[in-house]
Amino acid sequence: MDNQPLDRLTSALVSGSVTDEEEMARLDRQPVIQILPDANVIKIGGQSFIDRGREAVFPLIDEIVENLPKHKMIIGTGAGTRARHSYSVGLDLGMPTGVLSVLGFFVSIQNAKMIHYLLARHGIPSIEPAQFAQLPLYLAERQACVCVGMPPYAYWQPNPEIGRIPPHRTDAGCYLISETLGCRSMIFVKDEEGLYTADPKKDPNAKFIPKITVDELMELDLVDVVLERTVFQLMKNAKNRRSVQVINGLKRGNLTRALNGEPVGTLISA
Ligand code: ADP
Ligand code: MG
Repeated sequence: MDNQPLDRLTSALVSGSVTDEEEMARLDRQPVIQILPDANVIKIGGQSFIDRGREAVFPLIDEIVENLPKHKMIIGTGAGTRARHSYSVGLDLGMPTGVLSVLGFFVSIQNAKMIHYLLARHGIPSIEPAQFAQLPLYLAERQACVCVGMPPYAYWQPNPEIGRIPPHRTDAGCYLISETLGCRSMIFVKDEEGLYTADPKKDPNAKFIPKITVDELMELDLVDVVLERTVFQLMKNAKNRRSVQVINGLKRGNLTRALNGEPVGTLISA
C-alpha cells in the first residue's frame, strides 16, 4: 500500500509522539493481516442459550459436529444467569468493576468446560487465554476449539459509563477474537431471531430488523439491544471484522445457514 522505506516509518514513530493523532493516522498505512481468515467465531449465549439446558444445547452440539467437515469454528461461551447472580452479590458487597470482571470470567469458564466435555469425544480441545497461541494448531488438526467468551481484562476492565457491571463481557470478548484474528465471521447464537426494535420477550409489537448498520442502530437509540453495547463501539474502529450476525440457535439449521454465509438472523455492520 505504501512504499515509504521502513527506516523512515520507524524513525517517525520512535522519535515522534504516540499521542499525536495525525501522526498515528499517517502511520496506519498497511492493511492489517488476517491471522485465521478461514475460522468462524461462534458465541453460544449464556443466559439466552446454555442456561436452557440440554433441550437447547444438545441439538446445537449436533449441528456443530455436522459442520466440522466444512467449517473451522472457534466456540466462545457466555456466562449467563450465574454471572448475573455473582454480579448482584458482588455489587451489594461493594466490589469494583475489575473484581466483578474476575467473577464473570469464572462463570464463563464453567460454561466453556461443559461445552468442551460435550464435544470432547469428537476430539475438540478447549483453551484458556494463556493457550491462545495453540489455537491455529487445534483448528488445523480438529477444525474447532472451545474458549472462554469473557475477555481476561480482570482488574484492568475499565469502568462503564453507567453503573459498575463490566462493559466488556462475553459478546465483546468473542467479537474481539474475530477482529484480532481476522476471522471469516462472527456469529452470535442466542434465543431470538436477531435484533428487534425492542426486547421481543417484553414487547409483543417489537419489529424484527434483518439488517442494520452501527450508525443506524445508534440513531434508533433503542431502550435495549440484543448484544452488549460495547460491541458496537468496538465495531466502529474495526480493522478486520466489520459485520456480525445474530441468530436464533434454537432453530435447527440456522447455524449451518450462517456458516454457509446465508442471510439468517440480523446482520449488523460497521
Ligand atoms: P447472552 O446469553 O448471549 O449473554 P443476552 O441474554 O445477554 O444474551 O442477550 C440476548 C437477549 O437480549 C435476548 O434473549 C432478548 O430477550 C434480549 N433483547 C433485549 N433487547 C433486544 C432487542 N432489541 N432485540 C432482540 N433481543 C433483545
Ligand atoms: Mg449477555
